[in-house]
Amino acid sequence: MKIVRTVAHLREVIRAWRASGETVALIPTMGALHEGHLSLVRLGRERCRRTVATLFVNPKQFNQPSDLAAYPRTEESDAEKLTAIDCDLLFAPDAAEMYPPSFATNVSVRGIGEELEGAARPGHFDGVATVVSKLLLQALPDVAIFGEKDWQQLQVIKRFAADLNIPVAIEGAPTVRDADGLALSSRNVRLTPADRSKAPLLHAVLQRVAVAVRAGADPAEAVNGARRELAAGGFEPIDYIEVRDGETLGPPGPGPRRVLAAAWLGQVRLIDNIPG
Ligand code: AMP
Repeated sequence: MKIVRTVAHLREVIRAWRASGETVALIPTMGALHEGHLSLVRLGRERCRRTVATLFVNPKQFNQPSDLAAYPRTEESDAEKLTAIDCDLLFAPDAAEMYPPSFATNVSVRGIGEELEGAARPGHFDGVATVVSKLLLQALPDVAIFGEKDWQQLQVIKRFAADLNIPVAIEGAPTVRDADGLALSSRNVRLTPADRSKAPLLHAVLQRVAVAVRAGADPAEAVNGARRELAAGGFEPIDYIEVRDGETLGPPGPGPRRVLAAAWLGQVRLIDNIPG
């Protein structure tokens, strides 16, 4: 697998593929790759002839400097994992390539980007939307693949890609979990053994809310019970646990619903969601 670090080099490689009639899937990541990320690359390989993974720990989407500093950086082993599953190209730019000193643009998604994660992490989705816009326009793939693990992020990306007429199909991929239900995340390595044993409760509680709501329970009552259960299980603070419309992330309507939560165990913030 080739590694490129500049937009010019990325475009040169992709231009040659295009000249041969080959299709391209893009898989943006912040590295510290696990099976969740690799499942996106595998899906990319099913969709397109060529797969491009990107590795960029985007400073603009971190609202806490300590979280950015603690974010794992493992490029060498990431590259090995991608090579092992036949990813064609890794784009790993440095911060100056993505954000030169003159950089002055911000992509901001109103409404859907201001709820839940947007409210708990001010500026987070502006950072995501800005960097993903850049990555989509730099590579101009046929398809870009994102995990349902970050459900709201996936909806935000679909929104700005449509609003800005970015000619790339945005596709979601199912959440990959450990056997006990914990969604894989690059942040899980920072859980203490004691907190790791508490962590599966988040998914279990989401499932109980979804079952209750489907059986006709009042969503507000179901999430109140869930909040108490998470608190008793050691989650503190609980940023949110909500039943929302799956597409707009507004109040649940007649369409498909989503149950979403974010809560802390020690220094680690976990997020998860399932269909409601
Ligand atoms: P990240 O490196 O955390 O920014 O994630 C890069 C991509 O991988 C995003 O599209 C995430 O939604 C996706 N992703 C992260 N964890 C998982 C998981 N457990 N299952 C599926 N996709 C995931």
